[in-house]
Amino acid sequence: MIRNIVLDSEEKIREISLPINPHEIGTEELKSFCVDLLDTLQSFKYGVAISAIQIGIPKRIFLIQRSDKDGKRESPKYFINPVIESTSEKLVKYYEACLSVNYAQTFGEVVRKYWIRISYLDENGNSHTEKYDGLYARIILHEIDHLEGKLFTDIVDSSTVKDLKEYLEYIKKR
Ligand SMILES: [Zn+2]
Repeated sequence: MIRNIVLDSEEKIREISLPINPHEIGTEELKSFCVDLLDTLQSFKYGVAISAIQIGIPKRIFLIQRSDKDGKRESPKYFINPVIESTSEKLVKYYEACLSVNYAQTFGEVVRKYWIRISYLDENGNSHTEKYDGLYARIILHEIDHLEGKLFTDIVDSSTVKDLKEYLEYIKKR
């Protein structure tokens, strides 16, 4: 079921999400919640990730589903109770957007760690520790911020903020 997106103008988006009890994993309730997250994400053409709080549920789970060059969506990947184990010293700056900020039609540059190592549970309750870098690390860090009630607009370089039209012109010129 497609759910409404909680926007940055709403108090709810600032709520700190609570860990999911491992006993909840595998229940029909959590499975159907995972489907709702996916349905809601897929209702946006360019959406790549969504956190539970963005559909109003303060639980520590997010979903990433990127698309390949041809626009074909990769298989969805769920992260439950993620913990950052270590990060690079190296920082990188790049554009981000967010479904909760003007439905992902506002862009701006944010500085993030280049790589991260995180541990988390998947939707089957299996635990993983994995290293991610580049854009994937950026997406994870953006989503983990959501679990803390933070938005990219809190740390964006305000001189780089662009609306969708300006952003598309900008990337075309690069
Ligand atoms: Zn976001």
